[in-house]
Formats: sequence, structure tokens, C-alpha cells
Amino acid sequence: MLSYEKARETVTARVESLAAKPALESVSLLESLGRILASDILSDRDYPPFHRSIRDGYAVRAADVHEGATLNCIGELKAGDSPLFAVTSGTCIQIMTGAALPEGSDAVVMVEHTQRTGDQVIVRRPVRPGQHVVRRGSEQQAGEVAVAAGKRMEFVEIAAAAQVGAATASVYRKPRIAILSTGDEVVSLDSSPGPFQIRNSNSASLAAQVSRSGGQPVMLGNAKDQLDDLRAKIKQGLQADALILSGGVSMGKYDLVEPVLKELGAEFVFDAVAIRPGKPVVFAICQGKPVFGLPGNPVSTMVTFELFARPAIELLSGEAARELTSFEAILAEAVTEKPGLTHFLPAALSWPNLSPRVTALRWQGSGDIVAMYRANCLLIVPADRERIESGERVHVLPRSP
Ligand code: AMP
Ligand code: MG
Repeated sequence: MLSYEKARETVTARVESLAAKPALESVSLLESLGRILASDILSDRDYPPFHRSIRDGYAVRAADVHEGATLNCIGELKAGDSPLFAVTSGTCIQIMTGAALPEGSDAVVMVEHTQRTGDQVIVRRPVRPGQHVVRRGSEQQAGEVAVAAGKRMEFVEIAAAAQVGAATASVYRKPRIAILSTGDEVVSLDSSPGPFQIRNSNSASLAAQVSRSGGQPVMLGNAKDQLDDLRAKIKQGLQADALILSGGVSMGKYDLVEPVLKELGAEFVFDAVAIRPGKPVVFAICQGKPVFGLPGNPVSTMVTFELFARPAIELLSGEAARELTSFEAILAEAVTEKPGLTHFLPAALSWPNLSPRVTALRWQGSGDIVAMYRANCLLIVPADRERIESGERVHVLPRSP
């Protein structure tokens, strides 16, 4: 059976080969949050745009300044002022953080290291040339790429774009991702379930995960475990850029997702991965569209989305393929799992004394949303390990990247 690493690689390779780059749209800088930048944003000028003082103090010629030197203060500069006259030998200019260094000076003595009487400034600590000054263009030069195409716009990218005056950004259009749950027992959130019915939590969690991955969820509701209903709704889902189903992919008599996809001409890339939860996960290409059939148990749905569907949606949204982000931690209590499958266990990660420790949470298996809610990560138990002792190093995945 496929390992999750191999399955993930396969998804990435197949979706990359399918996907034309999405169309572009221009949005305001704040609306670009979470979107993938489609063209480079260039620096409009040097940064900093002038030799910038990064302390409150006195602009001086470093060569003049020994301990105990007395300088004549000939003026004052605050942030935003243009320096009108120069510092000459034996003089200094009072300068504030963020102001431009005046001609003739090459360093700033911190105000804390001076003593002032009238215009006389006594320097208590000498400075090196360049000290407390950031030179023009030393952060970034005019014309350099400030934010590169392909970056996801998060708050830092937005700051970098704002600095260079990008009021709008060209981003990729969000791919439309159809979400379809299946199951005769599944009812919508706003109806009150009968005694043996359950609410459709999968469509809700999938919509949130799709949005977080850069897609636009298209909610198709729930299909009954009947060929006709399922066929009609899958066909509708294939109008979107990708389709994600939950449920109906196990070995039960009413698990009809695979037969319907087959009937619609799907090529099955895989229909099982050596993981728990989520082993019967399906990835297919149907009528040119990526289709994921995620197992219906809610934790299986969430975990298999993160492992396999997320990279597909990221690619469709214009982002380059990313590696799965995992962290190392020390296992606090031994775990024992069935070998042959990689297990992803809801777990609690904490950092006592800055060293990461992880504990698997008690749970009732892949239907247990409550355990997932209490967890802040997934502990990975590799397929070749039956037991991991407390104190061993393990890998964990953050609940979402
Ligand atoms: P299935 O994969 O269809 O065999 O479903 C496995 C388990 O997940 C069953 O207990 C289902 O009732 C449950 N389940 C299926 N779909 C959903 C859903 N949309 N929301 C919450 N639970 C679900
Ligand atoms: Mg079902």
C-alpha cells in the first residue's frame, strides 16, 4: 500500500501536470491577505531611502569623537526633516530616531552617552563610523523585488508591499472547490437530527480547510447513498476546479462513491494509503478535474484533507508545492499502535522550559471530533514502529500549517 509521503508526491505531480495557471485579478492590498501574488512587486526606491538614524542622540563625525570630547551642537533634526546643514569637525547635530543623517556625519552617539550644557555636548562613549546608522539602500535597493510572485500574502508580505507603495496587488483567482458530503444519515446543521442521524460537520470543516488553503468553497450539500443522487451531484461538482467528497469510500454496501466515479470515467490514482485514520482515501482524475474521496469519519476527513487535498488546492491557487511541515518533540508517554500503517494521533504539544513535549490524547478513534478539538497537533507514529517509548523523539504535524 502507498505511504502517505508517496501519495502526497503523486497528488502534487498529477495536479501540477493538470493545472494551467489560474486567471489573475487585481485587489486592494488589504484584500490580498491569504492570496497568492501573481507578479513581482518591485521596490520603488532605496530602503532606507536615506542614511537613517536608529537612535535618539547626536549626529557626529566618528573620527572626532573620543571619550570626553566636547562638541558644539549646531542644530536639531527630527524624523521627516531634511538636513539643511552639515556637521563639521568639532560640531554635532541633535538627531531623533528615523531622521536622516546630515552631511559630514557618519555615526550617532546615543543621548544616554552624552551630557549637555547649553550647546556644549560632552561625549561619554566614543562611536565607530556607521554606528546607530542604517545606510541608504542597505535593506533593499530601488528596482529589487520587494515581494516575489508566488508568495502567499500574509501580514509581513503586506508590510513589505505597503512600504514600497503597492496599493493594489495582482493575485491569482481562487479556484472553486466543490464540497459534497454523502450519507443517508447526514442532515444539515440547521435541521434537528433524528435519534440516529448526525449533523454534517464534514462539509463545514472542509469548507474551512478549503478557504484556508486558498480555495473558494462551493457547497453542494449532501448526497444520499443512492446512485442517482450521487451521480447528479458529482456531475455538478465536476463543473468546479476540483471536487472533494466525504464518506462513501469504505467497503460497505452503501459506499457508492467509487462506482459512480468509475461510471463517469474517472482514473483512480490511488484508493488506499497506508495511514490511520483515513486508509480508504481516494484520489482520482475525472473529466480532467482532481477528485478526492475522503473517508467520512470526521477526523479521517480532516486529516486526509490536510495530507492530500491541501497541496492540490494550494497548487490550484497558484502557489508552488510546499513540503509538509513537521516538528520534532519528545514523547511524554509511550504509545503502541498497529504496525504497517502510519498513525496520526490527536496530541497535545507543549514547550515546558522551551523543549517540546507531546502526549497522545485519549480518543475514541476517527469519529472523535472532540479529541481533535482538544489536540493542537497530530503525533506521527511511523508505519515501522509498533511501540514508541516515553523520552523518544517523534515527529508532529501542527493541526494546520
Ligand atoms: P462513511 O465513510 O460514509 O462510511 O462514514 C463513516 C462515518 O462517518 C459514519 O459514522 C458516518 O456517519 C460519519 N460521517 C459520514 N459523513 C459525515 C459528515 N458529513 N459529517 C459527519 N460525520 C459523517
Ligand atoms: Mg456513508
